[in-house]
Amino acid sequence: MTFVRILSPLRLIFMIFLAAAVSFGIAKHTPSSAGDATGLTYVFDPVVSTTSTVLHVTLKFQGGPQGTEEIELPSHWAGSANHLHALSSDTTITDTDQANVKIARFPPKSQVVIAYDLLKDWDGPLVQPFQFHTVVMPQYLEINGDNALVHPKIDKTTMVSVNFDWQKLPKDWALATSFAISSGPTDRRQSFTGQWRYVDNALFTAGDFRIHRFEIRKKPTVLAIRGQWTFTDEQAIIDIQKVIGFVREFWHDDNFPNFLITLKPYDQEHGSSDGSAFTNAFWMYMSNKDPFSTQLTQLSHEAFHAWNVKRMGVAPEGKSDIEWFHEGFTEYYAQLLVYRAGLMELPAYLENVNRDLRSYSDSTSPYIRGRVLALWLDSQIRKDTNHKSSLDNVMFDMVREADKPLTLSRILETADRYLSADDRSQLHQAVKQPANVPAPIDAALGACSQFSVSIDDASIFDLGFDLTGTKAARRVMGVRNDGPAFKAGLRNGQQTAGISVYNNQPDKIAKVSIVTETVTETGTQPIEYYPRKLVKVPQYHLDQAAYASNPEGCRKQ
Ligand SMILES: [Zn+2]
Repeated sequence: MTFVRILSPLRLIFMIFLAAAVSFGIAKHTPSSAGDATGLTYVFDPVVSTTSTVLHVTLKFQGGPQGTEEIELPSHWAGSANHLHALSSDTTITDTDQANVKIARFPPKSQVVIAYDLLKDWDGPLVQPFQFHTVVMPQYLEINGDNALVHPKIDKTTMVSVNFDWQKLPKDWALATSFAISSGPTDRRQSFTGQWRYVDNALFTAGDFRIHRFEIRKKPTVLAIRGQWTFTDEQAIIDIQKVIGFVREFWHDDNFPNFLITLKPYDQEHGSSDGSAFTNAFWMYMSNKDPFSTQLTQLSHEAFHAWNVKRMGVAPEGKSDIEWFHEGFTEYYAQLLVYRAGLMELPAYLENVNRDLRSYSDSTSPYIRGRVLALWLDSQIRKDTNHKSSLDNVMFDMVREADKPLTLSRILETADRYLSADDRSQLHQAVKQPANVPAPIDAALGACSQFSVSIDDASIFDLGFDLTGTKAARRVMGVRNDGPAFKAGLRNGQQTAGISVYNNQPDKIAKVSIVTETVTETGTQPIEYYPRKLVKVPQYHLDQAAYASNPEGCRKQ
């Protein structure tokens, strides 16, 4: 993910279901007869033409003695299953009052076979946020358990044994998934035995990928990359090894029997990227003309998710109150570890922190709110423990105690161990109500004296009216009387002919074209203003002379 990222709500929902714990060995080519484990088989049959692809999927499982089963359709991300129908005899599928839940009825103890199709369900180019849909293209496909696998209702910790049959893929396609990397067209059957959550969170990629096998700290890793870039595949691999290697070193954990990274271009030249973490894998999308060096913090962020929260315990179903920890603390470390690794300089790191501090008071993003909270917490723990401990200890404790459920109260209890009573109540307060946390005192760079912090006036983005509502109604809505739009003459109810706004950019003029009742040459009147307001925020200031005399002085903690 990038520094200011737009979060899809679907993604947020999905992230909560990310689960924890240890990695597992992968058994290839094993039959699905694992004792009491629920057995499922998926057969994938893509019909590829020059303009489109349809991925036919067949699901088989052994029906129970009741002759009925709840069937769940993909409902997170932009999951979809088209033309769902039963193939086994005397099997019916009926609707329920939930769109993503069906009821299958079948002869008791018979094999149930259900078929459905996955396809590209949007028009136009592949840009944000269509990577979250089932990407099924003439050149390649990329799907995940959560957006593509229809399945009987299964708890996420239930043991399953699942076969994946990809034998009908085009012969020249590569196949790389969370469970195995195919060595060629005769190696297209994969299987997995373990908890269902690893399947639900699995990544499946096939198509015109270049497959590179290499090592990170002696552990096998695969890059599946497609498209043309301004960098070579080898250059990307060097950066991946450096960044992910540093993150694994931070955690003192190299338990990665296999790991997959996929990299695909957006149909957009500059400025867009996305990363998402899966079972033993993460994907990256980026603009096709951007340099790979712009993605180092994204790499670090996705690599960090392998622990936060995947190795911190299982979250109870349906809980969604820890995004600030999952995304924001991950983002805090993503930036900090790239800096500590020597891949970002101190001025860039501080400016990056300053940007989030400026956004903090108005932001609802768990990335920004959580990152600033982590910055504050790291500083307080160092102060309260006389620099014996840091936020790192909280993170390590969370992994060490992964046998406990992953809940908000456990995160707070773990942090409390390292805090004074005052700071404990500040933390609990900040988590419950999104109130301002106090200014962090030292940006958590230990005893570094190359910068200071002060409370400054800063301009932050403030449009002063409801942009989404106004665009939809073509009439001005939600103008705040104390905001810059009102001051510039914008009023509720005015009819709009056009709007030009640079989101989150307080120094770019906002233009709203209003339809006038009086006759003018164009019939419209432009209203232009800077979309910003002044706030007081903590900001870090580099001591240029101290930094110049020892640029590496703050790097080591
Ligand atoms: Zn993330």
